[in-house]
Amino acid sequence: MNLPVYMDYHATTPCDPRVLEAMLPYFSQQFGNAASQGHAFGWHAAEAVKIAREEIASLLNADPSEIIFTSGATESINLAIKGVFELMAGKGKHIITVATEHRAVLDTCGHLEKLGAEVSYLPVQPDGLIDPEVLRSAIRNDTILIVIMYANNETGVIQPIRTISKLARQQGIFFFTDATQALGKIPVNVMEDGIDLLACSAHKIYGPKGVGALYIRRRNPRVRLTAQMDGGGQERGFRSGTLNVPGIVGFGRAASLCQNEMEQDVKSISRLRDKLEKAILNLGGTQLNGHHLNRLPTVTNISFAQGVGNQLLKNLLKVVAVSSGSACSSASPEPSHVLKAMGLDDKAAYHAIRFSLGKYNTEEEVEFVIQRVRLTLEEMNSEMVHIQDGLKT
Ligand SMILES: *Cc1c(COP(=O)(O)O)cnc(C)c1O
Repeated sequence: MNLPVYMDYHATTPCDPRVLEAMLPYFSQQFGNAASQGHAFGWHAAEAVKIAREEIASLLNADPSEIIFTSGATESINLAIKGVFELMAGKGKHIITVATEHRAVLDTCGHLEKLGAEVSYLPVQPDGLIDPEVLRSAIRNDTILIVIMYANNETGVIQPIRTISKLARQQGIFFFTDATQALGKIPVNVMEDGIDLLACSAHKIYGPKGVGALYIRRRNPRVRLTAQMDGGGQERGFRSGTLNVPGIVGFGRAASLCQNEMEQDVKSISRLRDKLEKAILNLGGTQLNGHHLNRLPTVTNISFAQGVGNQLLKNLLKVVAVSSGSACSSASPEPSHVLKAMGLDDKAAYHAIRFSLGKYNTEEEVEFVIQRVRLTLEEMNSEMVHIQDGLKT
């Protein structure tokens, strides 16, 4: 067993070796530009991109022509929200989103507010779920876009996507979902789920970093948006720039592996997650954050009575790679905005740890982590008793 044990799969995943193998030729022999239509180097690259586009479309139940490649979910989110806002500016400027969204969504909305957008940030219930009635009453005549993530990166909480999409469709409002965490863990189906736009990323599904996709519905309804990157007109003009062919090939391979193996993989990951979670919650002084059923099978988010500020817990984090708060904002010591939106006080939010598991975790690793958490909590408790004794005398 290698230390530290990696339990931060929601931050990023390693490339599956089969993904890496598929990518390698496109860095060297097959180096062509997919936009070079005049020779075989270009044709080979274009063919590889075509296959990858089909693999990703198939995983989402989309048409390949509805997939736009980007540099990652952050770019896809920017393109979707800014692109729809810009194109629809004449029709309305109201956007609805949720307080627990990823920073990429919240900060993009914040940017648009400076440009005249009006944004409603819906609250969530203590379990992290939105109340569809609250969404319904937030809809206005000038609402152009509803932005609600499929599953939360910190807690794994899965929003009622089909209820949301039905509401949006009835009112003629586009529905955009950030499915970066849901993809590869639970079935995501743009047709059955009624999704108009969807963002996802390769490096969360055992693909490479720096490549993502935006699904843009072409029929019933046809979604239109303004490009945010101008240039050579690649990706049907929605996203100019030479395609990252090796990255796209890796993304495609990762998607097809997901499609074939996800069910099996997730079964064993969720068994490990359940074992870890049950053991930690049994230790006392701990609390599970987020709805315990409507959530991804790969993650457990737990608040400790005494938190990460504690030296003993810091020691634990040296042998277990996890996140306290969101990985994306953990450079700043701010308590998680997601947990605070769920009603946790600063202390409980600050003292939360996210264990996110993946397909390379083993039973042995889970047992090791349980053991270490148990020891740490015992040490912290006896430390507390010492402090209390000291105060008494
Ligand atoms: C990781 C993540 C992102 C950002 O994805 P990048 O491809 O790293 O830009 C966005 N949303 C969610 C929910 C994520 O987990």
